[in-house]
Amino acid sequence: MSTLEIRDLHVSVETNDGPKPILRGVDLTVNSGETHAIMGPNGSGKSTLAYSIAGHPKYEVTSGSVTLDGEDVLAMSVDERARAGLFLAMQYPVEVPGVTVSNFLRTAKTAIDGKAPALRQWVGDVKTAMEDLRMDPEFAERNVNEGFSGGEKKRHEILQMELLKPKFAVLDETDSGLDVDALRVVSEGVNRVKGNSDIGVLLITHYTRILRYIHPDHVHVFIDGRVAEQGGPELAERLEESGYDRYLTARA
Ligand code: ADP
Ligand code: MG
Ligand code: MG
Repeated sequence: MSTLEIRDLHVSVETNDGPKPILRGVDLTVNSGETHAIMGPNGSGKSTLAYSIAGHPKYEVTSGSVTLDGEDVLAMSVDERARAGLFLAMQYPVEVPGVTVSNFLRTAKTAIDGKAPALRQWVGDVKTAMEDLRMDPEFAERNVNEGFSGGEKKRHEILQMELLKPKFAVLDETDSGLDVDALRVVSEGVNRVKGNSDIGVLLITHYTRILRYIHPDHVHVFIDGRVAEQGGPELAERLEESGYDRYLTARA
Protein backbone atom coordinates (compact mmCIF):
# COMPACT_ATOMS: atom_id res chain seq x y z
CA MET A 1 0.00 0.00 0.00
CA SER A 2 1.14 3.54 -0.76
CA THR A 3 0.34 6.83 0.93
CA LEU A 4 0.34 10.35 -0.47
CA GLU A 5 0.57 12.74 2.43
CA ILE A 6 0.11 16.49 2.36
CA ARG A 7 1.01 18.28 5.57
CA ASP A 8 0.32 21.92 6.43
CA LEU A 9 0.98 22.97 2.84
CA HIS A 10 1.37 26.69 2.17
CA VAL A 11 1.76 27.78 -1.44
CA SER A 12 2.13 31.17 -3.12
CA VAL A 13 1.58 31.84 -6.79
CA GLU A 14 3.87 34.06 -8.84
CA THR A 15 1.98 37.17 -10.00
CA ASN A 16 3.02 40.48 -11.56
CA ASP A 17 2.69 42.06 -8.12
CA GLY A 18 4.90 39.42 -6.53
CA PRO A 19 4.03 36.20 -4.74
CA LYS A 20 0.40 35.83 -3.64
CA PRO A 21 -0.37 33.30 -0.88
CA ILE A 22 -3.09 30.86 -1.99
CA LEU A 23 -2.85 27.64 0.02
CA ARG A 24 -2.92 28.31 3.72
CA GLY A 25 -2.27 25.04 5.47
CA VAL A 26 -3.65 22.03 3.59
CA ASP A 27 -3.69 18.63 5.30
CA LEU A 28 -4.70 15.57 3.31
CA THR A 29 -3.79 11.89 3.33
CA VAL A 30 -4.68 9.61 0.44
CA ASN A 31 -4.02 5.88 0.61
CA SER A 32 -3.92 3.39 -2.25
CA GLY A 33 -7.39 2.33 -3.30
CA GLU A 34 -9.08 5.44 -1.89
CA THR A 35 -10.93 8.14 -3.79
CA HIS A 36 -10.97 11.59 -2.25
CA ALA A 37 -13.13 14.36 -3.67
CA ILE A 38 -11.92 17.91 -3.23
CA MET A 39 -14.82 20.26 -3.69
CA GLY A 40 -14.93 24.00 -3.47
CA PRO A 41 -15.98 27.26 -5.08
CA ASN A 42 -14.03 28.86 -7.90
CA GLY A 43 -10.85 30.51 -6.69
CA SER A 44 -10.57 28.46 -3.52
CA GLY A 45 -7.19 27.05 -4.58
CA LYS A 46 -8.08 23.60 -5.90
CA SER A 47 -6.00 23.90 -9.06
CA THR A 48 -3.19 25.45 -7.04
CA LEU A 49 -3.10 22.27 -4.97
CA ALA A 50 -2.98 20.16 -8.14
CA TYR A 51 -0.19 22.26 -9.67
CA SER A 52 1.79 22.17 -6.44
CA ILE A 53 1.66 18.38 -6.34
CA ALA A 54 2.68 18.30 -10.01
CA GLY A 55 5.61 20.68 -9.50
CA HIS A 56 4.51 23.61 -11.66
CA PRO A 57 7.26 26.29 -11.47
CA LYS A 58 4.81 29.17 -10.90
CA TYR A 59 3.69 27.75 -7.58
CA GLU A 60 6.10 28.17 -4.70
CA VAL A 61 5.73 25.99 -1.64
CA THR A 62 6.54 28.28 1.27
CA SER A 63 6.07 25.67 4.00
CA GLY A 64 4.69 22.22 4.65
CA SER A 65 5.35 18.92 2.93
CA VAL A 66 4.13 16.48 0.30
CA THR A 67 5.43 12.93 0.62
CA LEU A 68 4.82 9.68 -1.22
CA ASP A 69 5.59 6.74 1.04
CA GLY A 70 7.80 9.06 3.04
CA GLU A 71 9.75 10.32 0.02
CA ASP A 72 9.86 14.10 -0.40
CA VAL A 73 7.81 14.82 -3.53
CA LEU A 74 8.63 18.54 -3.42
CA ALA A 75 12.33 17.76 -3.85
CA MET A 76 11.61 15.76 -7.02
CA SER A 77 11.70 17.10 -10.58
CA VAL A 78 8.47 16.88 -12.57
CA ASP A 79 9.82 13.75 -14.32
CA GLU A 80 10.78 12.15 -11.03
CA ARG A 81 7.27 12.74 -9.72
CA ALA A 82 5.83 10.91 -12.71
CA ARG A 83 8.29 8.04 -12.26
CA ALA A 84 7.39 7.87 -8.56
CA GLY A 85 3.82 7.17 -9.65
CA LEU A 86 2.07 10.55 -9.61
CA PHE A 87 -0.27 11.49 -12.42
CA LEU A 88 -1.88 14.87 -12.91
CA ALA A 89 -4.73 15.60 -15.30
CA MET A 90 -4.87 19.36 -15.62
CA GLN A 91 -7.93 21.53 -15.81
CA TYR A 92 -6.49 23.16 -18.94
CA PRO A 93 -4.27 20.64 -20.76
CA VAL A 94 -1.58 22.13 -23.00
CA GLU A 95 -1.06 21.53 -26.70
CA VAL A 96 2.05 19.65 -27.76
CA PRO A 97 2.55 20.66 -31.39
CA GLY A 98 4.10 18.08 -33.69
CA VAL A 99 3.73 15.18 -31.22
CA THR A 100 1.04 12.61 -31.91
CA VAL A 101 -1.03 11.03 -29.17
CA SER A 102 0.48 7.68 -30.07
CA ASN A 103 4.09 8.90 -29.77
CA PHE A 104 3.34 10.92 -26.68
CA LEU A 105 1.88 7.91 -24.87
CA ARG A 106 4.75 5.60 -25.80
CA THR A 107 7.38 8.19 -24.83
CA ALA A 108 5.68 8.79 -21.48
CA LYS A 109 5.34 5.06 -20.80
CA THR A 110 9.02 4.50 -21.65
CA ALA A 111 10.12 7.37 -19.41
CA ILE A 112 8.04 6.17 -16.48
CA ASP A 113 8.94 2.48 -16.72
CA GLY A 114 12.58 3.12 -17.61
CA LYS A 115 12.23 0.87 -20.66
CA ALA A 116 10.17 0.79 -23.82
CA PRO A 117 6.97 -1.28 -23.59
CA ALA A 118 6.88 -4.54 -25.57
CA LEU A 119 5.46 -3.40 -28.88
CA ARG A 120 2.74 -5.95 -29.60
CA GLN A 121 1.36 -5.83 -26.07
CA TRP A 122 1.48 -2.04 -26.04
CA VAL A 123 -0.33 -1.63 -29.35
CA GLY A 124 -3.05 -3.94 -28.06
CA ASP A 125 -3.31 -2.09 -24.75
CA VAL A 126 -3.65 1.28 -26.49
CA LYS A 127 -6.28 -0.09 -28.86
CA THR A 128 -8.32 -1.61 -26.03
CA ALA A 129 -8.12 1.51 -23.88
CA MET A 130 -9.19 3.71 -26.77
CA GLU A 131 -12.12 1.44 -27.58
CA ASP A 132 -13.16 1.46 -23.94
CA LEU A 133 -13.16 5.26 -24.01
CA ARG A 134 -15.09 5.21 -27.32
CA MET A 135 -12.29 7.02 -29.13
CA ASP A 136 -11.83 6.89 -32.89
CA PRO A 137 -8.57 5.01 -33.77
CA GLU A 138 -7.53 7.99 -35.90
CA PHE A 139 -7.31 10.02 -32.74
CA ALA A 140 -3.95 8.35 -32.01
CA GLU A 141 -2.40 10.14 -34.98
CA ARG A 142 -3.53 13.62 -34.01
CA ASN A 143 -1.23 16.08 -32.28
CA VAL A 144 -1.64 16.22 -28.50
CA ASN A 145 -4.50 18.54 -27.54
CA GLU A 146 -4.33 20.43 -30.85
CA GLY A 147 -7.91 21.37 -31.67
CA PHE A 148 -9.24 18.77 -29.24
CA SER A 149 -12.76 19.38 -28.02
CA GLY A 150 -13.32 19.53 -24.26
CA GLY A 151 -14.50 15.92 -24.28
CA GLU A 152 -11.51 14.75 -26.33
CA LYS A 153 -9.08 16.42 -23.96
CA LYS A 154 -10.62 14.68 -20.97
CA ARG A 155 -10.75 11.30 -22.73
CA HIS A 156 -7.09 11.74 -23.64
CA GLU A 157 -6.24 12.36 -19.98
CA ILE A 158 -8.06 9.24 -18.87
CA LEU A 159 -6.39 7.29 -21.69
CA GLN A 160 -3.02 8.35 -20.28
CA MET A 161 -4.09 7.31 -16.80
CA GLU A 162 -5.22 3.89 -18.04
CA LEU A 163 -1.95 3.24 -19.84
CA LEU A 164 0.59 4.81 -17.48
CA LYS A 165 -0.80 3.05 -14.40
CA PRO A 166 0.12 5.63 -11.74
CA LYS A 167 -0.07 5.03 -8.00
CA PHE A 168 -1.93 8.29 -7.49
CA ALA A 169 -3.92 10.42 -9.91
CA VAL A 170 -4.95 14.01 -9.39
CA LEU A 171 -7.88 14.81 -11.67
CA ASP A 172 -8.56 18.53 -11.81
CA GLU A 173 -12.11 19.27 -12.97
CA THR A 174 -12.17 16.29 -15.27
CA ASP A 175 -15.92 16.84 -15.41
CA SER A 176 -15.93 20.46 -16.55
CA GLY A 177 -17.24 21.05 -20.05
CA LEU A 178 -18.47 17.48 -20.53
CA ASP A 179 -21.94 16.59 -21.69
CA VAL A 180 -23.66 13.74 -19.89
CA ASP A 181 -22.52 11.05 -22.35
CA ALA A 182 -18.87 12.13 -22.22
CA LEU A 183 -19.08 12.43 -18.44
CA ARG A 184 -20.28 8.84 -18.27
CA VAL A 185 -17.51 7.54 -20.56
CA VAL A 186 -14.82 9.41 -18.64
CA SER A 187 -16.22 8.28 -15.28
CA GLU A 188 -16.38 4.68 -16.47
CA GLY A 189 -12.71 5.01 -17.43
CA VAL A 190 -11.77 6.21 -13.97
CA ASN A 191 -13.82 3.44 -12.39
CA ARG A 192 -12.17 0.86 -14.65
CA VAL A 193 -8.72 1.98 -13.52
CA LYS A 194 -9.90 1.90 -9.91
CA GLY A 195 -11.25 -1.61 -10.41
CA ASN A 196 -8.11 -2.91 -12.13
CA SER A 197 -5.56 -1.35 -9.83
CA ASP A 198 -4.98 -0.03 -6.36
CA ILE A 199 -4.80 3.57 -7.52
CA GLY A 200 -5.50 6.42 -5.13
CA VAL A 201 -7.53 9.23 -6.69
CA LEU A 202 -7.78 12.89 -5.80
CA LEU A 203 -10.83 14.08 -7.68
CA ILE A 204 -11.06 17.85 -7.80
CA THR A 205 -14.42 19.26 -8.75
CA HIS A 206 -16.66 22.27 -8.40
CA TYR A 207 -19.89 20.35 -9.07
CA THR A 208 -21.33 17.27 -7.42
CA ARG A 209 -22.60 15.62 -10.61
CA ILE A 210 -19.44 13.57 -11.35
CA LEU A 211 -19.78 12.06 -7.88
CA ARG A 212 -22.90 10.27 -9.06
CA TYR A 213 -20.62 8.20 -11.27
CA ILE A 214 -17.38 8.13 -9.31
CA HIS A 215 -18.06 7.45 -5.67
CA PRO A 216 -15.65 9.09 -3.25
CA ASP A 217 -14.70 7.50 0.06
CA HIS A 218 -13.88 10.90 1.52
CA VAL A 219 -15.00 14.44 0.71
CA HIS A 220 -13.03 17.58 1.56
CA VAL A 221 -14.53 21.03 1.22
CA PHE A 222 -11.97 23.56 0.12
CA ILE A 223 -12.49 27.22 1.11
CA ASP A 224 -9.90 29.98 0.89
CA GLY A 225 -6.94 27.69 0.44
CA ARG A 226 -7.61 25.18 3.14
CA VAL A 227 -9.88 22.28 4.01
CA ALA A 228 -12.89 23.78 5.80
CA GLU A 229 -14.69 20.50 6.42
CA GLN A 230 -14.24 16.84 5.68
CA GLY A 231 -16.53 13.87 5.75
CA GLY A 232 -17.87 10.92 3.82
CA PRO A 233 -20.02 10.81 0.67
CA GLU A 234 -22.95 12.33 2.59
CA LEU A 235 -21.05 15.62 2.65
CA ALA A 236 -21.23 15.78 -1.16
CA GLU A 237 -24.96 15.19 -1.02
CA ARG A 238 -25.35 18.05 1.41
CA LEU A 239 -23.32 20.32 -0.89
CA GLU A 240 -25.55 19.33 -3.77
CA GLU A 241 -28.50 20.75 -1.84
CA SER A 242 -27.02 23.76 -0.09
CA GLY A 243 -23.94 24.67 -2.15
CA TYR A 244 -21.02 26.54 -0.64
CA ASP A 245 -22.98 29.51 0.72
CA ARG A 246 -22.89 28.23 4.26
CA TYR A 247 -19.09 28.28 4.33
CA LEU A 248 -18.79 31.63 2.60
CA THR A 249 -21.29 33.27 4.96
CA ALA A 250 -19.47 31.86 7.93
CA ARG A 251 -16.29 33.43 6.59
CA ALA A 252 -17.76 36.91 6.07
P1 ADP B 1 -9.72 26.96 -8.16
O1 ADP B 1 -9.04 25.90 -8.96
O2 ADP B 1 -10.28 26.47 -6.87
O3 ADP B 1 -10.75 27.70 -8.95
P2 ADP B 1 -7.17 28.31 -8.30
O4 ADP B 1 -6.18 27.48 -7.60
O5 ADP B 1 -7.17 28.27 -9.79
O6 ADP B 1 -8.63 28.03 -7.73
O7 ADP B 1 -6.95 29.83 -7.87
C1 ADP B 1 -6.92 30.23 -6.52
C2 ADP B 1 -6.64 31.70 -6.43
O8 ADP B 1 -5.34 31.96 -6.90
C3 ADP B 1 -7.56 32.58 -7.25
O9 ADP B 1 -7.83 33.75 -6.51
C4 ADP B 1 -6.75 32.90 -8.47
O10 ADP B 1 -7.12 34.13 -9.02
C5 ADP B 1 -5.35 32.93 -7.91
N1 ADP B 1 -4.36 32.52 -8.91
C6 ADP B 1 -4.12 31.27 -9.33
N2 ADP B 1 -3.17 31.23 -10.27
C7 ADP B 1 -2.80 32.52 -10.44
C8 ADP B 1 -1.82 33.18 -11.27
N3 ADP B 1 -1.06 32.49 -12.11
N4 ADP B 1 -1.73 34.51 -11.17
C9 ADP B 1 -2.51 35.21 -10.31
N5 ADP B 1 -3.41 34.67 -9.50
C10 ADP B 1 -3.56 33.34 -9.56
MG1 MG C 1 -9.70 -0.13 -6.05
MG1 MG D 1 -9.35 25.13 -10.81
